[in-house]
Amino acid sequence: MVDLANNSNASDDFESAAVKAVDELVGRAERAGASDVHLQMCGSGEMGEARAQVSFRLDGLMAPVDEFSAAVAGRVFGRIKYLARLKTYQDSLPQDGRIAREKINAAHDVRVATYPTVTGEKIVLRFFPEAAQSLDELGYQSEPRAVLETFLKSQSGLLLLTGPAGSGKTTTIYSCLRHLTQSGGRHIITVEDPVEQVLPGIMQTEVNEARGLTFATAARHLMRQDPQVLAIGEIRDEETARIAVRAALTGHLVISTLHAGSCSGVLERLLAMCPDRYAVAAALALVFNQRLVRRLCAACAGEGCGDCLETGYKNRLPVSEWARMDDALRAQVREHGASVFQPAEPLAESGKVLLKENLTNAAELERVLGS
Ligand SMILES: [Zn+2]
Repeated sequence: MVDLANNSNASDDFESAAVKAVDELVGRAERAGASDVHLQMCGSGEMGEARAQVSFRLDGLMAPVDEFSAAVAGRVFGRIKYLARLKTYQDSLPQDGRIAREKINAAHDVRVATYPTVTGEKIVLRFFPEAAQSLDELGYQSEPRAVLETFLKSQSGLLLLTGPAGSGKTTTIYSCLRHLTQSGGRHIITVEDPVEQVLPGIMQTEVNEARGLTFATAARHLMRQDPQVLAIGEIRDEETARIAVRAALTGHLVISTLHAGSCSGVLERLLAMCPDRYAVAAALALVFNQRLVRRLCAACAGEGCGDCLETGYKNRLPVSEWARMDDALRAQVREHGASVFQPAEPLAESGKVLLKENLTNAAELERVLGS
């Protein structure tokens, strides 16, 4: 617990203590490898006092790490809002902002979101990710990596990634785009919501629904920019689905995500939005369904140590299944629909490979995949 309240009565000291508290909190979260920091005001604690709970999200799971007294929390919340250029007095409406890394001595820029809850205000600090990593660095095993890389070599076709929120789909898209820029020579355009990483050599656009720039309107106009590769953050409406399918059929490599729980579920949803089975079967090249599992800490092999904050896990890696379209499958899809579009090996089998390599353990696989 940061001992701010007893520091001094002078408000200057109080201010500088708030500055220090925010810097320290962010530094501590970064050192722990947290993806975001949650600060939640609570009306009353065990002793009936107001306080703020501080939690880190580590490898996808929330971990409580600290508490601030109400006096300290007020200063810390005020400092964060000031840095993010939000209205410091406003705590009954949500606000969004951003803090540049140098203002808080951090290694990452921070996205700030405030939200009013019944027990008081909540602030989430989310670290913008590092530069795009390679598929290898993301922890893909050799087979799924080869499948993705083969797709990226082709000139046209649609790749759809699926999996629940937080299953690394966007990170994988960035990694694919990085791979494409490194092989060079192609005109790559993205439509994202929001742009999380700026990639050199790629034309990136951010969706702005308030101003009428949706995925569909952006994608429609971007086709006139003559891209060879089009990455669309998410397909969630019929028009975007049709644009993606048509682009893939007309000599473009298209990468996107679509919300579904399985490979056949992706095709089913795509067909619901774009009912032309011939076009969809011809356009779709690959569906990747993935989850993220926590990786056993390399320093302690899962025993728990200072490096992994005694959790036994450090970082995450994807476990994936995929279905690749070929001519035989195309004919079957045209005749029978989405149900025939199944992965060669289900998620559970890919999980066993990670288990055999001692990269994760059975408890973690069960947590993520179910038993
Ligand atoms: Zn460890």
